[in-house]
Amino acid sequence: MRAMRTTACEGLVLTVALLLAGCGGGAQVGEQRVCSAETFKPNYVPQLERLLYWERFPVTVYFERDANYSEYYRTLALQGFDQWVEATGSVVRYRLVDSPDGAQIKVSFKPDMRNGLTTYTFYPSNGRMVNAKIEIGVQGNNPIDIRSISAHEFGHAIGIGGHSTNPDDMMYPNFVSDTPLKITQSDLNTVKTAYCNYFIGRSRVAPPPTEETPIEMTIECPASP
Ligand SMILES: [Zn+2]
Repeated sequence: MRAMRTTACEGLVLTVALLLAGCGGGAQVGEQRVCSAETFKPNYVPQLERLLYWERFPVTVYFERDANYSEYYRTLALQGFDQWVEATGSVVRYRLVDSPDGAQIKVSFKPDMRNGLTTYTFYPSNGRMVNAKIEIGVQGNNPIDIRSISAHEFGHAIGIGGHSTNPDDMMYPNFVSDTPLKITQSDLNTVKTAYCNYFIGRSRVAPPPTEETPIEMTIECPASP
């Protein structure tokens, strides 16, 4: 078992593929949230680059059927995703689909990586996501690590746009090999802040129509040494 950690994350790799052009129609006002970073504490919302959200659950998840796909990897990935479903009392949930058409989250496995990568597009004014892509490194074939990477990347894919600086948190950028990652209270509270309406018994207020162009962001998660 490797017990070393790499140094803290160098930061997010931001790939702004499409910068929104100046909107002629006036600024869109972001969704009115009914709670703030002070509502569910402790959390690490202030440390994040962004906190994003899906308009509704379940989100649709599609596993790419390429040469690296296997039922075994899919099972491990879903066990990782399910940690969030369980921790949020199924507020966060997904539905598997058999076609990439219209799938909101696409998942693939990468045998040449032992870390993970999540890319998503979202509306910058209100943080509403359009789609996300998760790449899960399976190099080393360690089921515990594959499950942990999957859980961590799913955390990004449901809205955590950045990392925690606390090594105990699921969303710390590095992990210790062979040690299952767990969702901490801070991880959970960070997601609850993104979906605060659901957790205080109110349905989400529909976001205003937006004509802006979604932007793309990639979060690269350093590997275990
Ligand atoms: Zn990460």
